[in-house]
Amino acid sequence: MTEKQPLLEVSHLKKYFPAAKGAEVKAVDDVSFTIYRGETLGMVGESGCGKTTCGRTAMGLYPRTGGQVLFDGRDVHALRGAAKQEFTRRAQIIFQDPYASLNPRMTVADIIAEGIDIHGLAKSREERTERVYDLLNMVGLNKEHANRFAHEFSGGQRQRIGIARALAVNPDFIMCDEPISALDVSIQAQIVNLLVTLQKERGLTYLFIAHDLAMVKHISDRIAVMYLGTMVELTAAEQLYEHPLHPYTQALLSAIPIPDPQVERDRRRIQLEGDIPSPVAPPPGCRFAGRCGRACERCRQEAPALREMEPGHFVACHLV
Ligand code: SF4
Repeated sequence: MTEKQPLLEVSHLKKYFPAAKGAEVKAVDDVSFTIYRGETLGMVGESGCGKTTCGRTAMGLYPRTGGQVLFDGRDVHALRGAAKQEFTRRAQIIFQDPYASLNPRMTVADIIAEGIDIHGLAKSREERTERVYDLLNMVGLNKEHANRFAHEFSGGQRQRIGIARALAVNPDFIMCDEPISALDVSIQAQIVNLLVTLQKERGLTYLFIAHDLAMVKHISDRIAVMYLGTMVELTAAEQLYEHPLHPYTQALLSAIPIPDPQVERDRRRIQLEGDIPSPVAPPPGCRFAGRCGRACERCRQEAPALREMEPGHFVACHLV
């Protein structure tokens, strides 16, 4: 078996934002994980759990408050000049909202070719046009679409344009920031299938962010579950679905509908009480304690560390 090669290594990453009266929003608070070449790491959690901020800070879009992010061994936040330019080519983003992320005044060809122009990847006008046609073809569109504007397309087609734009610069890594959340359920599977196919063809590595576990199931090799700025569980996808250890993961999984009506009737749902607390003043101890049916005194006083309970299966819970 070939050894796994790390591509993105995130260590003790912190991202705090200033809040009113000198307080801080601890959006990401000491998060560590590695993404290996060619894999998809799914990152899941409710709104406000810090998953998008974590991804964006790891991509160097926000300065970090603490910790370190290495991309191919180099500190993302220390990159300057040509090295930074090369990183912005190699690491791309597909955004959540295909309606807002495409410039309405640009043709599809110009949207897709923007990165080709910035990074000087086409030697002539003809080569640029050929690349745009190839990219349209690759994402299931065609060259007749090149001179149209984004508003002429459906949500699923716009997300295909967003994917073509990301692929245009031959990246190694793509952060997919809730790329299917704004789409109809019938379209979601098509976009996930397209991303899986492109990954196989082009050896891509993905960070795939979503707000529920159903969305990451078919694309992830491993899954990280975030809660209130911290990572509470990280393991192989099949292990997470079959043998979740953290009470929060168990609650998220119990909320996914099962197509078999008999199984659906007999299963036990774990109700999550209350909302995710404010990241301005997170509770001391375990951040999930206020909503956890198994919380004990220790949970309210001492924050559980993320520990490896089984090979490759990391959990932050005192009772596991
Ligand atoms: Fe629940 Fe305690 Fe585990 Fe936190 S540490 S998830 S409160 S049992």
